[in-house]
Amino acid sequence: MARRKKIYEGKAKILYEGPEPGTIVQYFKDDATAFNAQKKDVIEGKGVLNNRLSEFFMTGLNQIGVPTHFIKRLNMREQLVRQCEIIPLEVIVRNYAAGTMSKRLGIDEGTQLPRPIVEYCYKDDSLGDPLVTEEHIAAFGWASQQDMEDILSLALRVNDFLSGIMMAVGIRLVDFKIEIGRVYDGDFQRLIIADEISPDSCRLWDIETGQKLDKDVFRRDLGSLTDAYTEVARRLGVLPKTSTPITKPTLIN
Ligand code: 5GP
Repeated sequence: MARRKKIYEGKAKILYEGPEPGTIVQYFKDDATAFNAQKKDVIEGKGVLNNRLSEFFMTGLNQIGVPTHFIKRLNMREQLVRQCEIIPLEVIVRNYAAGTMSKRLGIDEGTQLPRPIVEYCYKDDSLGDPLVTEEHIAAFGWASQQDMEDILSLALRVNDFLSGIMMAVGIRLVDFKIEIGRVYDGDFQRLIIADEISPDSCRLWDIETGQKLDKDVFRRDLGSLTDAYTEVARRLGVLPKTSTPITKPTLIN
C-alpha cells in the first residue's frame, strides 16, 4: 500500500495529503505542549477527544453559515478538511481577562471585559507568537483591509456561537484562539475557519465552581487533562453522559 505524504507536523497535529486535490487529512496527536513547547507530555486520549470536539464545533459553525475547513471525520483521530492558505495570525477573542491579557495589563483573571476583545498574534513559534496590531498586519501584507473586516466578523460570530453552546451546558467561554484560511472558488477568494477548535485552544470554566476544563489544567498542573476534556465532551453530548472517566474515550457514533 502506498504511504501517504506528510505535509506538515505541528505540536498537536499532523497534516497528510488528502484523497482528492484540495483536501487534507488532519491527524490529532496525544502530544500536549505549553509555554512554546518548553513543557511537553503525551496525554493518552487527548487527540481522540479533540478530534471529536473540533468536529462538533466546526459542524455547528458550518450549519449556521460560518464557513470552516471541516468536511468530515474519518476515524477516531483523523478528519478530512479543505486545504487552504493559512493566514499567519492567531486570532484571539476574549470575554473575560485571563492568561497573557491578565499578565500584560494587570487585570485579575476572571474579570468580565466590557465587550469581547479581539487580539492578533503573529504565528511564529520561534518568536513566541508575538501580539501585533492591524498596522503590522497591513504593513507586512499578512492580510488586506477587507480580510481584516472579514476576520473580525468571523471571530465575533464564532464567539457568539461558542459562548451560547457553552453557556447552555454550564461552561463559561473565557477566551479562545482560531486560525483563518484562505480558499479560492473560481475567481473569488474567501476566508474560512481552519485548524481546530477544542479545549486546547479555548479557556473553559465551569460557571458554578470556576473549575478549569481546558488546557490550563496541563499548563498549570491542575489535575487530569483527559478528565477535564471528557467532562466538556459529556456535557455537550459528544460522549455518553453516564460513562466513567476514561483515558481511551468511547465515543457516540
Ligand atoms: P493567552 O494569550 O492568554 O495565552 O491565550 C488566549 C487564548 O488563546 C487561550 O484560550 C489559549 O488557549 C489560546 N491560545 C493562544 N495561543 C495559542 C497557541 O499557540 N495554541 C493554542 N492551541 N491555543 C492558543
